[in-house]
Amino acid sequence: MPELPEVETVRRGLAPYVEGALIEKVTLNRKDLRFPFPKGFVEALEGQSIVSVGRRAKYLLFRLSGGKIWLGHLGMTGIFRFAEGRFKEPSRYYEPGEDIKHDHVVIALNHPKKGPLTLIYSDARRFGFMDLFEREEDSPYLAGLGPEPLGNAFNAGEMAERFRGKKAPMKAALLDQRVVAGLGNIYVSEALHRAHIRPTTEARKLVLKSGKPSARLELLADGVRTVLTEAIDAGGSTLRDFRAADGGSGYFQHRFAVYDREGEPCPTPGCSGTIRRIVQSGRSTFYCPVCQKP
Ligand SMILES: [Zn+2]
Repeated sequence: MPELPEVETVRRGLAPYVEGALIEKVTLNRKDLRFPFPKGFVEALEGQSIVSVGRRAKYLLFRLSGGKIWLGHLGMTGIFRFAEGRFKEPSRYYEPGEDIKHDHVVIALNHPKKGPLTLIYSDARRFGFMDLFEREEDSPYLAGLGPEPLGNAFNAGEMAERFRGKKAPMKAALLDQRVVAGLGNIYVSEALHRAHIRPTTEARKLVLKSGKPSARLELLADGVRTVLTEAIDAGGSTLRDFRAADGGSGYFQHRFAVYDREGEPCPTPGCSGTIRRIVQSGRSTFYCPVCQKP
């Protein structure tokens, strides 16, 4: 499942090919993904240029020349990829063995420098979706999202305000999208390990009586930024050319410190712990019982 760093990697892969491109034709091969496409979606996109492609949490935001914003969410298996040239004879553009039945959206683009390109959205499990709106605040998906973890608004002070008096375990508190936007199951485990915080610790324990963040909460804010930045850098190194924007054989493989490493030695220097797996709110959490103190 793509998390924030993977979505950011996709964004960076797409940007040089879609920014400035004219959307000539949009073909929907079905009426819905996870949700139906919005009314008038095709008509709204055709004839527009893509001014920029941005990201908010795990949403891709394509800004169109007419002012509208086209939102894309990759769900669990969503992939954007390109075929060179216009999309006239589909079979020509696929690698042998490539399964085309999951290609739900086909967009003919014309880029002023790179020429005609076909952008394809495929999604085997169809948990992804698309939307269209005028302003970010009009979107139910974006309204109520907390600060971007890599933006200036995310810091330990903000977290302390949210965590004050909260008995929820840190794992759940960090997955709350109002606290920080776009952080998912994998990177919550990684960030808590980086900050040496046990995932079962009550959130309020990291806030001082004065309401100020504890030193460990400060460490956590840094930990969130560090694990995401490292993962984005790792993803960026896999982007050799625009075809890599399709994710290739899947999303890039990043080596995690604790995630999915049950029974392995803790990578913290000098720590003799062994990574343990527990289940919180129905999802796996990985942590080191030695250096992540309760
Ligand atoms: Zn450890």
